[in-house]
Amino acid sequence: MSARLIDGKAEAAKLRGRVKDAAAALKAAHGLTVGLGVLLVGEDPASQVYVRNKGIAAREAGLHAVERVLPATASEADVLAEVAKLNADPAVHGFLVQFPVPGQIRQTAVIDAIDPAKDVDGLTPVNAGLLVSGRQGLVPCTPWGSLLLAREAAGDLSGLNAVVIGRSILVGKPMAQLLTNDSCTVTLAHSRTRDLPALCRTADILVAAIGKPGFVKADWVKPGATVIDVGINRIDLGNGKTRLVGDVEPAAAEIAGAMTPVPGGVGPMTIACLLRNAVVAACHQTGIAVPAGI
Ligand code: NAP
Repeated sequence: MSARLIDGKAEAAKLRGRVKDAAAALKAAHGLTVGLGVLLVGEDPASQVYVRNKGIAAREAGLHAVERVLPATASEADVLAEVAKLNADPAVHGFLVQFPVPGQIRQTAVIDAIDPAKDVDGLTPVNAGLLVSGRQGLVPCTPWGSLLLAREAAGDLSGLNAVVIGRSILVGKPMAQLLTNDSCTVTLAHSRTRDLPALCRTADILVAAIGKPGFVKADWVKPGATVIDVGINRIDLGNGKTRLVGDVEPAAAEIAGAMTPVPGGVGPMTIACLLRNAVVAACHQTGIAVPAGI
């Protein structure tokens, strides 16, 4: 039987609609315009597209979008100075630095400079700690979007076995924590995990965040499982064209109960969750209750 495809585009459109309503309500009731900033360092074409799309999505949701660009030659001090300006800007309630940054800049130094109250990527140690503590902070967008899709597909996740492959601070670790907070029994797998295929076959919820095209094979998937494919890999088709594929072999859709497509699964949710985080950050900073539904 073929898996139900989890429509990330449709779920993201619904969340963006709710964020737009929330932003409009905050403006009407409190005169608050939610501001979202993005800082790009360098001219990487993929990053330029991501940054542009984030700006468009923010404006569509009625947010004030701020884009800052530094040249690829910028020093770490230049980037930290720009981060300090965004930290101090009262019109910007949340911002992110588009990673990766050029090699002369330490990613950890940049993360550590971001005011945790404005950290809409949820990468600072403060927000990571709040997530582990099960308290209200800012949660990384991709895992939060992945969790919403898993809930949409599988309903109540309580008691389910979850396997997350990948342990990055951006995706894998927060994903494992979110599933734990939803009362799953979670195993966090990585490149040193032994007998990964057998482990994956125990998963009611299988999340792949590896960055290797088609790495998870169809016969690793438990029949009926919910599969969340976070991977975004651009493969060369050899005719001058490229295509985006996930970390999970497409044939897994014949075994799974529900599965996210790539593209059109987790990707659209990431931007929607970024907008949501900007609204949450603005509410936390101003002492206004976060509007229901986001
Ligand atoms: P990352 O930082 O490179 O982490 C990859 C993880 O995969 C690491 O923990 C690594 O394990 C693990 N891994 C590598 N080879 C493995 C193997 N053979 N067996 C088991 N685990 C293995 O990547 P990331 O930033 O988390 O991103 C992962 C994927 O998600 C990428 O394709 C990325 O493009 C995509 N992504 C998508 C979105 C979205 O919006 N949809 C957002 C962010 C990322 P070790 O720790 O042991 O090295």
